[in-house]
Amino acid sequence: MPKPLRVVEVFHSVQGEGVSAGEPATFLRLAGCNLACGWCDTPYSWNWKLYDRAQFSVPHDIDQVLERIGTPERLIVTGGEPLLQAEALERLLPRVTAFVEVETNGTVAPTPALLERVNQWNVSPKLENSGEPKERRLRPEVLRRFALLDNAWLKLVVRGHAETAEVEALIERLRWSRERVLLQADATTRAELDLRGPLIEDWASGSGFRYSPRLHIARWNGERGR
Ligand code: SF4
Repeated sequence: MPKPLRVVEVFHSVQGEGVSAGEPATFLRLAGCNLACGWCDTPYSWNWKLYDRAQFSVPHDIDQVLERIGTPERLIVTGGEPLLQAEALERLLPRVTAFVEVETNGTVAPTPALLERVNQWNVSPKLENSGEPKERRLRPEVLRRFALLDNAWLKLVVRGHAETAEVEALIERLRWSRERVLLQADATTRAELDLRGPLIEDWASGSGFRYSPRLHIARWNGERGR
């Protein structure tokens, strides 16, 4: 019996972050994560001490997922950590005609079938500011595989210039092209984004990186499902 996909939510919005920010998209948020970042803005996708697993991790077979997502031009598979459900994704994605983005924390290696099907990887390994120990949040052997892909973008959530050495050391270690690196402000509210966003934008533009906005925070102040 194939495993179902565990789905948190499906909604239609715009990509709020990363290199395709502003593009209309359908989001498929999958349940479960192998990290527990202190500033996580989607704890309802994995923190079963605070949220009801039965409500936020609902088993769906592939036909049910296809019916819920419809026929969007762009599908963003996010989480949680969606690659924890790679086997079920391998069954779903060949039946989707959309341009597919997958958002991952970069700790789980993509399978060959997903490498073949996914159009864009948004890879966001966590820095010290996540509160997670290094050995859990960084898997260099996985990240180096992503670094070799032309369709993988590195997105780092940062707070300020005090993290410059950590960011530069990581990029150097991974040999990730600077033009495919984005810096994004650690902000889960509009007030935090107003405070940090301009500083991070300056840092990015002065260092050969891109700046990743957070359109859903700026527009909807982080409201769920927007
Ligand atoms: S990896 Fe992403 S979903 Fe998982 S805890 Fe960290 S921020 Fe949240």
